[in-house]
Amino acid sequence: MIPEPYGGRLVNGLLGEREAGRLLDDRSVPSLDLPPEQVYDAEKIATGAYSPLEGFMGPQDLESVMEADRLSSGLPWTVPIVLTPRAGADGLSPGDRALLKGTDGRPFAVVDVEEKYPFDRSRFAQKVFGTTDPAHPNVADLQGWGGSAIGGRVGLLRRLELPTSRFELTPAETREYFARMGWKSVAAYQARNPPHTAHEYIQRLTLEREDVDAILVQPIVGKLKKGDYRPEIIMKAYETFVANYYPRDRVLLAALSIAMRYAGPKAVLFYAIVRRNYGCSHYIVGRDQAGVGGYYDPYAAHRIFDRYDVGVVPLRYMETFFCRVCGWMASSKVCPHPKEQHIDTSQTGIRKRLAEGKPLPTEILRPEVAEVLRGGDVFVT
Ligand SMILES: [Zn+2]
Repeated sequence: MIPEPYGGRLVNGLLGEREAGRLLDDRSVPSLDLPPEQVYDAEKIATGAYSPLEGFMGPQDLESVMEADRLSSGLPWTVPIVLTPRAGADGLSPGDRALLKGTDGRPFAVVDVEEKYPFDRSRFAQKVFGTTDPAHPNVADLQGWGGSAIGGRVGLLRRLELPTSRFELTPAETREYFARMGWKSVAAYQARNPPHTAHEYIQRLTLEREDVDAILVQPIVGKLKKGDYRPEIIMKAYETFVANYYPRDRVLLAALSIAMRYAGPKAVLFYAIVRRNYGCSHYIVGRDQAGVGGYYDPYAAHRIFDRYDVGVVPLRYMETFFCRVCGWMASSKVCPHPKEQHIDTSQTGIRKRLAEGKPLPTEILRPEVAEVLRGGDVFVT
């Protein structure tokens, strides 16, 4: 069955046009500069992607999530959603309203200030990411966050204008699509890179399951770091791939513009909760999803679902690869051959081949995807 939203109700924070216009015209409402990741979060709160959150967390929820992996209501939740403006928060107190500015500098949302409290970056880093090492990308980002946090309800004046906007669907929209297609069970596939054969193998194994009607392929294409694939490239590669290799009535492709949280298992549980809000009943977990460097055990994300039930069935897969002897995609579960026989399908390998102008064989990439990647200007500079 398509699960009901997390916490029971899909949050809708989209304001009417008249109210939005009035807010934009009111010169007495101050506006806040946010770190880019929080711009995406504000929009997702209002579209219901983070249901049951109706706003940015106050100190009670933040503490509870950091210490107990739960909201103060007791519901499991592993990644804090906080608002720590870079500028503009000084004069604010509870009861005030403030506009939130997008990355283009224009207001797109409003927050009702309910609580204002000091924000401790290094404690946050330790509790959420398990490290204060500035080499960790999310820990590095924290340097751009302000020193005080604001908790309060968010209202959305307009949707964000993004390079991937045509792929952005709200939870209400994906749920409507699933209903129209008659899908009763949908597995979410989390991605952050263009598809290669190891991804495809896992998606096909999932599509073969009797208990799965369809897959929602939903790459995270929010805040980027230098060297990442550009969001348009990831979506274009997936669009080509899905159109050429999957039955139309079994796969939906959509973009999820939020910042990647490289928080290992905590991030994975959070992503599963978000996908439940989009209507997914199952969640695909591969090896080292949401990992970076060597900070997390690559299979800890498999185990976190044993500790917390978030109403989504985890589909756990081992690392997959192309084996020369098997002549097929495989994992350690089905292939007895030594590592030397396995072809590296990793992004590192693909990037290296791209940079050296080497061919990208079909054991690694579908030719249509390879063509997109070879088109140039694929990375964030
Ligand atoms: Zn083999």
